[in-house]
Amino acid sequence: MTAINKDLVLFNELVEVLIAEEFENPVAERIDSNKLYDSIDLSLNDDGMIDDEFKSLLSNVLVSTPKTATNLFFNQLFGGRQSKAILGDLLAVMLNNSMYTYKVAGPQVGIEQEIISQSCNLIGYGAKSNGTFPTGGSMSNYMALVMARDAKDPMCRLNGMSKPLIVYTSKESHYSNSKNASFAGIGRNNIRYIKTDSKGMMIPEQLEEQIIEDLKNGGIPTYLNATAGTTVLGAFDPIDKIADITEKYAIWLHVDGAYCGSVIFSEKYKHLLKGVERSNSFSYNAHKMLGTPLTCSIILVNDKKQLHESFSNDADYLYQTDGDDFNLGKTSFQCGRRNDALKFWTLWKSVGKNGLEHIVDKQFNLATIALDYIRSNPDYTLYSFDDSISVCFNYKNIDPTTLCNALYEHQVTVVGFGSFKEDTFIRLVTINANNEKEDILNFFKVLEEFVAKTPELRKVKEVIEL
Ligand SMILES: *Cc1c(COP(=O)(O)O)cnc(C)c1O
Repeated sequence: MTAINKDLVLFNELVEVLIAEEFENPVAERIDSNKLYDSIDLSLNDDGMIDDEFKSLLSNVLVSTPKTATNLFFNQLFGGRQSKAILGDLLAVMLNNSMYTYKVAGPQVGIEQEIISQSCNLIGYGAKSNGTFPTGGSMSNYMALVMARDAKDPMCRLNGMSKPLIVYTSKESHYSNSKNASFAGIGRNNIRYIKTDSKGMMIPEQLEEQIIEDLKNGGIPTYLNATAGTTVLGAFDPIDKIADITEKYAIWLHVDGAYCGSVIFSEKYKHLLKGVERSNSFSYNAHKMLGTPLTCSIILVNDKKQLHESFSNDADYLYQTDGDDFNLGKTSFQCGRRNDALKFWTLWKSVGKNGLEHIVDKQFNLATIALDYIRSNPDYTLYSFDDSISVCFNYKNIDPTTLCNALYEHQVTVVGFGSFKEDTFIRLVTINANNEKEDILNFFKVLEEFVAKTPELRKVKEVIEL
């Protein structure tokens, strides 16, 4: 057997250990961070480790790593496992292509382009559209901002920033917006955070008022980042109404669908993105709602010229054969680029668009189950809304931060908390499409049982209220 054959056997053994462990202990035993280096041997040494020890160490590391695919993990905007996507990602590792040229990536280029063109069709972009696979949703937002900046001030690419460009997003948008404004040379103080309504959606009238004021002060409105699925509440900004304004003032409209943009696959929920075809760019993360392994992020542009104008650079040592349509490095941020497309393609190919639709709809069904449970139980207070897979609530008025941390420290379930306006609450994300109704009901059961046997939790809140 060659080395790789042997290691793949080892891989399979380790995967069995992991899957058995996930079944036995859906929440990994937590290692206190200040005891980490004393608990597992993570040291790197002059001499290598012999095979048997290596195997048992690896198995230790696997067992003690937080488990994101189990039915008690609700902490993040990803979870579960789509096995056909995992297959694709493992193959991508074996192939180890880099996506910059056709010479090196061959058919993988076509795989990426097929996903991009199908996605463009789904959102109603026309023949000039195209896109790329950035490293994530934050990078997608960044690329959109750079295109917007260059479209408004083309000379900026040569001379640097010289104009007072202003960008807009809502108070509930992703934090990458503020970092990106600084990276792009626009500056964090030149972002306007537009107020949201009681459901966390950007208020278009407030946006227009702000634009008018900026114009009066000599600012140049340049870019608007609308969110399709805000990070906390899962709210959708009203794209159609926002597009009326961005078109009127010639502002680049980017729709950040990192979290919930995958509703493009659902007949039932795609109306949440109404007007998206009027945007200049749109991004979504297949590693969130569609359940591919991290990371798998796609940005689409209505006019591919803009992607080229901001991101292409000649490099004779790299681009030696084939046309620009096949040399994808001409439209990417980085040079060497991991093949994030294959895992999405193996999933899509094997389940079809209908299968992807089912994955998306399932998450809304699970959210409805959670919402119904909360609404029918007076011990709970609900803070989120319909048409969202972020279900936000508090239980028996217990301080949500204390409760979340206690649930995590006692390995009961992994869930996070969030805030909207004055409220802080637990945020249950029903994004794991492998879950069933029982898993959602079980979440509430383990939470309630834990609270019942942990009276200190209720005291904390009483003390605060005094
Ligand atoms: C997750 C998320 C992002 C960031 O995506 P990464 O892939 O984690 O960089 C951006 N915007 C929204 C709305 C998100 O939910």
